Amino acid sequence: MISIFKSKKDDKTLKDYFEILQTIPMEVAAFDPEGKFIFVNEYYFTNGIPSKEFIGKDNEYYFYRLGIDPNAISDRKKYFNLALKQKRLIHFTEKLFFPDKNRTYYYKRIYKPIIDPKTKRVTAVFLFGSNLTHVILSQKELKYLAYHDKLTGLRNRDAFYEQLEQLVRETTRNKNNISAVLFIDFDNFKIINDSLGHDYGDIVLREATKRMLHGLRKTDLVFRLGGDEFTVILKNLKRELDAGNVAEKLIYLLSKPYHIKEETISSMTASIGIALIPRDGLDRDTIVKNADMAMYDVKKTGKGGYRYYASEMTENSIKRLQIINQLRDVIEHKDFDNQFNMVYQPIISMNGKANNYKIIGIEALIRWNNPLLGAVPPAIFIPIAEESKLIQSFNQWIIQRSINEFKQIEPYHRNGFYLSLNVSPRGLHSEDFSRNLQNAMLRNQLNPKSLQVEITETSLLDDDPAIKKNLTALSGMGIQLAIDDFGTGYASLSYLQRIPAQTIKIDRSYISRLNIDEKDQDMVRAILAMGRSLNKNLIAEGVETTDHLHFLEENSCKQFQGYLFSKPLPLDNLIHLISEHNMELTLP
Ligand code: C2E
Ligand code: MG
Ligand code: MG
Repeated sequence: MISIFKSKKDDKTLKDYFEILQTIPMEVAAFDPEGKFIFVNEYYFTNGIPSKEFIGKDNEYYFYRLGIDPNAISDRKKYFNLALKQKRLIHFTEKLFFPDKNRTYYYKRIYKPIIDPKTKRVTAVFLFGSNLTHVILSQKELKYLAYHDKLTGLRNRDAFYEQLEQLVRETTRNKNNISAVLFIDFDNFKIINDSLGHDYGDIVLREATKRMLHGLRKTDLVFRLGGDEFTVILKNLKRELDAGNVAEKLIYLLSKPYHIKEETISSMTASIGIALIPRDGLDRDTIVKNADMAMYDVKKTGKGGYRYYASEMTENSIKRLQIINQLRDVIEHKDFDNQFNMVYQPIISMNGKANNYKIIGIEALIRWNNPLLGAVPPAIFIPIAEESKLIQSFNQWIIQRSINEFKQIEPYHRNGFYLSLNVSPRGLHSEDFSRNLQNAMLRNQLNPKSLQVEITETSLLDDDPAIKKNLTALSGMGIQLAIDDFGTGYASLSYLQRIPAQTIKIDRSYISRLNIDEKDQDMVRAILAMGRSLNKNLIAEGVETTDHLHFLEENSCKQFQGYLFSKPLPLDNLIHLISEHNMELTLP
């Protein structure tokens, strides 16, 4: 009660305090030992209510009058009692929530008990407070920025790792919890960015984010690791199967067309790898590695799908690593001549007469014999060399060796005979590819007309300016272009028209199934008809039997390659074959 001070000797001193503290620019109040306000300075927050009103009332009243969430009262009381009992300064922080305004204020507070020197009893307790709301909010903002991605507003890589570590800790305690990590990577996103510009790319990423958030539960967490890489954490799954269902839904949502300004983008799909926790790992790095590996596996086998991590992937990736290491070794020690050689498969054309064929060219195919791994087929190591960006170093060797050997056959062949080189997508990406080829031709005095470059259909898909530039340069030099493995990629008809290729090579897989599957017969007929109407030269790859040949001949296909005529041969054997038959072949 206020009256108790009036009778005291030090009454004046306390009043003096009040006078000084009245205009100090921070919140100051004083309480009697029962917790009733005896003083409230002009900075003490009362939300416009005259401070007089609080004199003689307690904190409960203050909270009630200002509409503050009463949760914070207990701390206020607790520290007040502590100051009273221990007769010392008490620091504490306070978070006051105002439900009406939906705002939170943060304070740093001090209780300072005033002790009567004679009786040693606490006569009053001061409360000082400074408003830290700005500081705290900017710290929160900093934390927000540190853990969020600016473009999409999603949590970022650091936040992902932190969440994953927490999840691992939870799962270690309770192994019955099933969770999943989804690694999501967009397919063809780079094309959008490169062809339409980053503005479009950004819009696609934001729209994709919206779709993902829309398709997921509130408890699922989405993160953007960077670029077009996202992750999702699914907690408390009922069944392992559910992760796949979520992945499927996400793929569906992400693959729907994106309408941006006047453009419609319908080529976006997503590849998703799934690692389950605890099944596929119980530490952060293993889980991340395994989900990434599963995602990578989807990319490798056609994109636009999802896959669960499986332990064979580790075995495969070990083999991959060995191949990469051995390829690096070859490059480092310039050991190409020892480990690599080229073989040549004749390309055959009908000669007008029955059972009479001529060799019109050869396709150069690389062979690798490694001391550690033995013979590794190009279908295995070329894609790996591509992905690990080692292919450029081989291209140079392949070009030189093939052209050099081709010159050695010159005395035996007729006009129009040509060398066909395979070039992989990344090779075509390299700026100096066409220059290297030109230099090699000049050095060997090779007529560009006797050179053909085979580009796999899938590489055409990468509608990228560097590839286009190389293709234009090649046809400018008079080099022939062929689309290899036609039917396995997704080249559209308009693409076929845009690429200056004279020749289409029908993929071996269609030919090998000709006598098994009628659909493949229809497919081959269709490709032949389309090729003819586009005025393309057509070669059937992988002709192994006379049945294949008859079907093709019946459908007016005139050029072939395959074991029926000849396997790929080393230079000497090829020269033998050519000179013996004077470039002609008859089937037994
Ligand atoms: P590709 O360019 O389509 O080459 C044709 C493949 O089919 C060759 O396999 C050839 O040996 C095989 N083949 C030819 N006729 C028959 C047949 O009647 N039956 C069967 N079953 N197979 C036949 P290879 O040499 O293993 O090459 C595989 C792929 O590796 C090539 O497919 C090509 O994409 C790539 N490749 C090979 N050499 C090179 C190279 O020097 N550079 C690049 N970039 N890629 C290469
Ligand atoms: Mg080829
Ligand atoms: Mg092919």
